[in-house]
Amino acid sequence: MDTIQITLPDGAKREVPKGTTAAEVAKQISPRLAKEALVARTNGDLTDLSRPLDQDTSLAILTAKDPDAVQVFRHSAAHLLAAAVLELYPNVKLGIGPPIDYGFFYEFLRPEPFTPEDLEKIEAKMHEIAARDLPNERKFLPKPEALKLYKDSDQTFKCELVEEKAIEPLVSFYTTGKFIDFCRGPHIPSTGRIQAFKLLNVAGAYWKGHEGNPQMQRIYGACFVEKSQLDAYLHKLEEAKRRDHRRIGTELDLFSIEELAGPGLIFWHPKGGLVRKLIEDWLRDELLRRGYDLVFTPHIMRLDLWNTSGHTNFYRASMFGPIEVEKAEYQLKPMNCPGHILIYKSRLRSYRDLPQRYAELGTVYRYERSGVLHGLLRVRGFTQDDAHIFCTPDQIEKEVEACVDFAFAVMKTFGFDRYEVELSDWDAGHPENYAGKPEDWQRATHALETTLERLNIPFKRIEGEAAFYGPKIDVKLIDAIGRPWQLTTVQFDFNLPARFDLEYVGEDGSRHQPLMVHRALLGSVERFFGILIEHYAGAFPAWLAPVQVEVLPLSEKIAAYAQQVTEKLRGAGFRVHLDDRNEKLQAKIRDAQLQKIPYMLVVGGKEAEAGTVSVRHRAKGDLGARPLDDFIGTLNAEIAQKGAS
Ligand SMILES: [Zn+2]
Ligand SMILES: [Zn+2]
Repeated sequence: MDTIQITLPDGAKREVPKGTTAAEVAKQISPRLAKEALVARTNGDLTDLSRPLDQDTSLAILTAKDPDAVQVFRHSAAHLLAAAVLELYPNVKLGIGPPIDYGFFYEFLRPEPFTPEDLEKIEAKMHEIAARDLPNERKFLPKPEALKLYKDSDQTFKCELVEEKAIEPLVSFYTTGKFIDFCRGPHIPSTGRIQAFKLLNVAGAYWKGHEGNPQMQRIYGACFVEKSQLDAYLHKLEEAKRRDHRRIGTELDLFSIEELAGPGLIFWHPKGGLVRKLIEDWLRDELLRRGYDLVFTPHIMRLDLWNTSGHTNFYRASMFGPIEVEKAEYQLKPMNCPGHILIYKSRLRSYRDLPQRYAELGTVYRYERSGVLHGLLRVRGFTQDDAHIFCTPDQIEKEVEACVDFAFAVMKTFGFDRYEVELSDWDAGHPENYAGKPEDWQRATHALETTLERLNIPFKRIEGEAAFYGPKIDVKLIDAIGRPWQLTTVQFDFNLPARFDLEYVGEDGSRHQPLMVHRALLGSVERFFGILIEHYAGAFPAWLAPVQVEVLPLSEKIAAYAQQVTEKLRGAGFRVHLDDRNEKLQAKIRDAQLQKIPYMLVVGGKEAEAGTVSVRHRAKGDLGARPLDDFIGTLNAEIAQKGAS
């Protein structure tokens, strides 16, 4: 009998009869592995456990511990969804059904929209099919037969896919019971293991993502190998819903988007405006302290400027159309960089003037399709905390380090303690795709890299991810429920200084081109506010809370004392509100809690006599009676701590 040699991941070799399957090898290794196995990897490729091995190969049996195997599991769940939908609605047309981060989707064409009740029915049907433990079997059909199969069942999108994608004469299919799908696989052996899933929502998507194509309905589902993982994921979704900044923004009266004014444009209400002022004040103070200069640039500028910068070329799709004024065309600014460049260029700079650091809370306008707009997070008008640094080559390490230090100060101040850092480098094999000389790239990347290493900041380096004009580092914050948010970017630019002929007179008396760094810490004030609302679930720390203290008199008899307490707190610089409505204390406390006001001070006859206040914290509850001055001292200390409290 023919034998073949199998090399396992630990290096062990095994002789097995030719035609042995990976599933059989798993059984030989251990019954437990055989039970947990989802898929195999032979010579680097994922493959079905049931496929016979016919030549010497490396072989890994993959379980739920392997992320690739989990994606195969989710893909099998997508097939299960399509099988269930076809059993219930035999006339739907199938699109594609890939795995995604947390589960899967499958897309369908159907005249009627899928309702939440439909999703329940489909989910129940999926469980029913899963319980039949049907094998996922691979099958090959000659291309003409494959096309006929789909033509006969009127699956036009699948016909299109077979026409485009099937390169070999034999076309690969997978069957799950009666369900058959054009698919390269691999899949897990059978449906029985797919139990931890939940259908979440339906979203419209054009076939192949092209506007004008038929509008498919994508059914999205969460799917994990273990039930506990699904539960944790669903809990996180619930938590995200509870923290949704759009809902909290309305409940706390922070901001709105007005239909009459247009989508993606933010109205900051008094309380939101106050938080914004506090964020901006902190930022401006830090900018000045850290050696930046504050500048202001116009909101519209000649289109010529944007031709020079190149934005009308590579950035056109994100810009609003030009505005004609006295036969000249003007452009609403999508970026602040060219404005800062003009300030730099307004006079001849010497190496002694460098670095120049221009910072602006610059409002920009960018065109985003209305379908992608999302509360404060994706908008059409926003204010960047933008800065541009112009420096000499030997200044870049110090400048990069200062940017990174500033980014970490932002994080600490606003209460984030977890982060991820990415360094995006060019694809050194294709220098022709990039602006700038190789030595510029090396120097800049080296500066980014050594700075992160020196500061002991772990980072992921991604080759080929850089923009064409320079390498960058991105800092993503991890919020209270573990979601990453892209915030800070420190981005080199070898393109704009050349396009604008920027120069400085060097120590040697001749002209040189300065290096330019774009740097935003919060990204945009709007988006940052949205992230803060979700991070704190609307319960801002005392230093940021629009109202810090609510004074609650027990009855009208205490009005004078309550007024006196309020005045004293206001005089001490706190944001305080007196609730003198003729309501029961419980109702007043409930309302203050709903407004997420950090402190409630209850005052009655006893307090008035003793000159005290009964302190109640929105999270810690009743903290007892204390002299007012005492309370003022502790609150001052808490505010000084900022996000760290
Ligand atoms: Zn498939
Ligand atoms: Zn810029």
